[in-house]
Amino acid sequence: MNRRNFFNQSLKGISGVALATSYPNFLFAKKQAAAEQMFIGTPVLPEYLFEKGIESELERMQSLAGINTVMTFSHDHVFRQYRKDFITKETAEGEPLTNIWVRTDSKYYPNKKWTYQDPDTKYAGRDILDELQEAAAPRGMKVYARILEPYVITGAIPGFEEMAEIDAKGEKGNNVCFNHPEYIKYWEAVIEDLVRSHPHLHGFKFGQERGGPLLSSLGKDKIGTCFCEHCLKKAKERQLDPEKARKGFLEIQKYGNAINDGEEMVDGNFVRFLQILFRHPDVLAWEQLWMDSRDMHKKRMFQQIKGINEKVQVGWHIDHGMTWDLITRATWDYDTMGPYSDWLSVAVYFDSMGRRSKGHYERNYQKILFGDADEKYSYPMYLSMLGFDPEMQPSLEEHRAKDTSFSSDYVYQECLRAVKNVKGAAQVYARPGFDMPGYDCDVQPEEVYQAVTKALEAGVDGLWCGREWDELQEKNIVAFDNAVKDWKKKHH
Ligand SMILES: [Zn+2]
Repeated sequence: MNRRNFFNQSLKGISGVALATSYPNFLFAKKQAAAEQMFIGTPVLPEYLFEKGIESELERMQSLAGINTVMTFSHDHVFRQYRKDFITKETAEGEPLTNIWVRTDSKYYPNKKWTYQDPDTKYAGRDILDELQEAAAPRGMKVYARILEPYVITGAIPGFEEMAEIDAKGEKGNNVCFNHPEYIKYWEAVIEDLVRSHPHLHGFKFGQERGGPLLSSLGKDKIGTCFCEHCLKKAKERQLDPEKARKGFLEIQKYGNAINDGEEMVDGNFVRFLQILFRHPDVLAWEQLWMDSRDMHKKRMFQQIKGINEKVQVGWHIDHGMTWDLITRATWDYDTMGPYSDWLSVAVYFDSMGRRSKGHYERNYQKILFGDADEKYSYPMYLSMLGFDPEMQPSLEEHRAKDTSFSSDYVYQECLRAVKNVKGAAQVYARPGFDMPGYDCDVQPEEVYQAVTKALEAGVDGLWCGREWDELQEKNIVAFDNAVKDWKKKHH
């Protein structure tokens, strides 16, 4: 495909020529190269691979969707934080599953308890990455490991209780603190072991799904963090005044709770919110400190992994909240991620986006931040501020009546935002999610086809097939594959 054709294709579906001037020339060449050996991965649960059989599942992935990269959890303590009594996941028969899916070498761990695997859990003692590699290598497939941060103190990882965040009222929070030296040591040990013990590893992804202190305080029972001694030290380096930040978070909590209790803000909700920020600007700096601490966690990992094996492709889970949360977007911008990222996995789960973004809007915007306007004005405004055309998305009433998917324009706009901001400094892989359990969207193949096509039109370098492989309907996997094949045909 020549450059002019690509240029024309890129402009399809975009009104105006604004994009043309913002696309540097080197990106065209880069996109051409990517189309030839496009990254097509899928995230899959380790227990699913063991239950179904690794060989046969890889066969299915290749034949149904041309998957060339398979990614699975090496550690999945995170799931405990979503379960009652923080118990481990179980098989359909009720047999508890391990949380560590690789063999560990205790020499890397200052605290030997961090490697503990209950021998009575299913698959304890096996190594999913080694077994996957054995089956994937002859097929020319790559193996990536993944971990989601188990940030809630559940008792799953010994010692986390001692690493708790401290909130603005001086009380211990439920989550671990990014800046606690023991927490930093925990991750150093896990990464050292994982990367050194798996020299064949092609890639690694880490995800952090917790949000910052400002929204955690807004009209909630909980209040912003973290005011522990380690964070206070970091704050001092930035010349922040913790007392002023503390007061600001207390005001934000009080303000949100008052509105939720029906109290009227004489100057209006939005102006009152701005008043609090102007009077307590330290909360904004504290929010950024918290987000920067979150990113520092990834930066340390990147440096450590590259120091052990520079071939490992290190990427980050850009969690779904990025697509609906304005404050996260303001404090965690794509254009700063390049220097510590080989690739980014952009979650564009168009099926669950309806219910999830509705919940976020209702908790923070409908009554509180945008409460000065009726929801018939503020909901379209909210979507517009996120960069989504309200005319192209379901209405609030539709979301309330039943789970409704967002349109492929949502996928397009968010992928385009990522591509334009990253500017080629890292690979951008879209992760269109569909068939998510618990959502009654009944996604059809045509929607999947459109979502994948739109992600490619936005200029992504590759794709993840689904949120999780095990939840995908075969007809939708085929639609995913058709979209990729049609795209390649058009561009060669
Ligand atoms: Zn702290």
